[in-house]
Amino acid sequence: MFEKVLIANRGEIALRILRACKELGIKTVAAYSKADRDLKHVLLADESVCIGPNASTDSYLNIPAIISAMEVTEATAVHPGYGFLAENADFAEQVQKSGYVFIGPDPDVIRMMGDKVAAIEAMKKAGVPTVPGSDGPLPDDSAKCAEIAERIGYPIIIKAAAGGGGRGMRVVHDAESLWGSVQITKSEAGAAFGDDTVYMEKFLQNPRHVEIQVMSDGQGSAIHLYDRDCSLQRRHQKVLEEAPAPGIDAVAREEVYKACTQACIEIGYRGAGTFEFLYEDGRFYFIEMNTRIQVEHPVTEMVTGVDLIREQIKVCSGEKLSFKQEDIKLNGHAFECRINAEDPKTFMPSPGLVDKFHAPGGLGVRVDSHLYGGYKVPPYYDSMIAKLITHGDDRQVALKRMEVALDELVVGGIKTNTDLQKELVRDEAFKEGGVNIHYLEKKLGLQ
Ligand code: ADP
Repeated sequence: MFEKVLIANRGEIALRILRACKELGIKTVAAYSKADRDLKHVLLADESVCIGPNASTDSYLNIPAIISAMEVTEATAVHPGYGFLAENADFAEQVQKSGYVFIGPDPDVIRMMGDKVAAIEAMKKAGVPTVPGSDGPLPDDSAKCAEIAERIGYPIIIKAAAGGGGRGMRVVHDAESLWGSVQITKSEAGAAFGDDTVYMEKFLQNPRHVEIQVMSDGQGSAIHLYDRDCSLQRRHQKVLEEAPAPGIDAVAREEVYKACTQACIEIGYRGAGTFEFLYEDGRFYFIEMNTRIQVEHPVTEMVTGVDLIREQIKVCSGEKLSFKQEDIKLNGHAFECRINAEDPKTFMPSPGLVDKFHAPGGLGVRVDSHLYGGYKVPPYYDSMIAKLITHGDDRQVALKRMEVALDELVVGGIKTNTDLQKELVRDEAFKEGGVNIHYLEKKLGLQ
């Protein structure tokens, strides 16, 4: 096991990683930006190092500064959390070349999954169901593209192979606008990602977002930890998640679990990972794999009892998986509300001094947050300040528990989206379960 881990992240996930390290008896180094010296995990870590100024490009994305911080503190591994450098293959490679361990899969695997065309290809080979599409990059030929679109059937979506964060995509409804759209998406992708490769998929009209959590040791063993539904999204940002996804076809679900674990073994995957799918009319369609721990991992922890970060650290230190598939039992239901420092109507970020903070509690309630009374939310980073998680024996109990917990939550001094979350957990269609990815934006009048 590692002696000392450097945490190259901030906020709630840095604190979450710190706790897991402490439980494993690992010493911790908090690498922080100038704006973040008062973060809770910085105050609690064994050591801390300032890695640069406020802007994340100069600190949390500054590869040489992070590797220097590892050298100075003699940390042997780095945990990237999510966001920032978590899916940056060059970072993982430089960490390895410097003689340290990157807590995540091999750089080549990260790189392959970052190229969506290559990722889809690998998934197909492993038997993971994908969206009907162009089977590779689109040719530079309008007649051939038209043929592919005819075969798939309109509407279709053109996507950048190197795209991410919901950017580099364009929906096309008819043959007339196809070639123009291909060319625009291509030039936008080239400008934004430095790679103008685009591909085509069938555009699914009313899918849900359902994802599968996996854990793999890169030594021939992989398990799944069931699924999550993250369909409530605004501008491709998840807002409220749950595990397991309600009302999923049992046969399709078992098949997809098997295919995901098989894919992990085939690509030599190591660590925690998520296969993201669109789910429509009882069928799963792979869209991408995230090669890191995700924001919404706690709902899976609540229904399986598995500490995902602990297990991730262990397998990345070279240990074998400590669980067999049959050890992973599904127990009850869990929800997670993301609490953001933002205006509930305009969604503009609302940084500033938190003059009061009261975290809800009680049976089945978990709060993952770096907040404390007197903490000042800086304006430089993501606006998520807390994750409120509830667990119950069934969906109804867990959801009611979330209602009560949200009513108890107090964050004073700044604006938050708590009122929106309160509305969502009382929403009749959401209470029924199974709303699609357009539901929230329609409800907000954005579509
Ligand atoms: P990114 O890496 O940018 O997040 P994804 O491939 O995960 O890109 O797609 C982001 C979102 O775009 C999906 O969650 C879904 O809302 C929409 N989307 C992507 N592909 C399709 C598709 N084939 N049909 C319908 N919606 C899609």
